[in-house]
Amino acid sequence: DSGRRLSKVLAAAGVASRRSSEELIFDGRVTVNGSVCSVPQTRVDPARDMIYVNGNRLSKKLPPKVYFALNKPKGYICSCGEKESKSVLLLFDDYLKDWDKMHPGFPKPRLFTVGRLDVATTGLIIVTNDGDFAQKVSHPSSNLSKEYITTVDGSISKRHLIAISEGVMIDGVHCTPDFVELLPQQPDISRPRMRIVVHEGRNHEVRELVKNAGLKLHSLKRTRIGGYRLPSDLGFGKHVELKNKELKSLG
Ligand code: URA
Repeated sequence: DSGRRLSKVLAAAGVASRRSSEELIFDGRVTVNGSVCSVPQTRVDPARDMIYVNGNRLSKKLPPKVYFALNKPKGYICSCGEKESKSVLLLFDDYLKDWDKMHPGFPKPRLFTVGRLDVATTGLIIVTNDGDFAQKVSHPSSNLSKEYITTVDGSISKRHLIAISEGVMIDGVHCTPDFVELLPQQPDISRPRMRIVVHEGRNHEVRELVKNAGLKLHSLKRTRIGGYRLPSDLGFGKHVELKNKELKSLG
């Protein structure tokens, strides 16, 4: 077999994540040399084959790969599908507006988030156009630890901390946190705070841990992924571009 898998070629060209590229292909939105191709495994050569996505010719020039750490504000979602909700990708509109000035001749990157945070969760989320990187970092086998700071209503007892450390069943899997601790009270924050470190990355994992221990979660913020910590001076809705050194710390 010569060439590369169609779904991988689309992801590398920044069209979408690997999985979303497969969906585009399944949905009949991709043509190769004039015919609809609905098999993601089809081998193609982007230099020779004419590939169209939603009627647009796939550029032979690859957009440069870009990586950002975003401090996600509350009320934004980490996907672009649903019409009613605000996507975190809207926060990159200004960046993309200036793209042509900074990278003349290169197609605009198609950005997506690496994994997801719940709509009410704030803090660190990685945004990129690199499908392979996103797949690698968000895959459970990457085993990256993630740190969250949570505040709760009421007070936190030793019993609560033990219950959290014992874990919770999610989708038939017993998830235990790597670490949980009560943080010292801060003068400007009235609610008690905990630091919880997990690595499974199951849906709503931290919320479930806190709820299962009998506590009422008030706020949840992600502050670290692997060896990369959200810069403390990065405001909500702001992003910084990540370079080699930071990317390595992400695994
Ligand atoms: N755990 C949660 O419960 N929510 C998130 O957004 C992330 C981790």
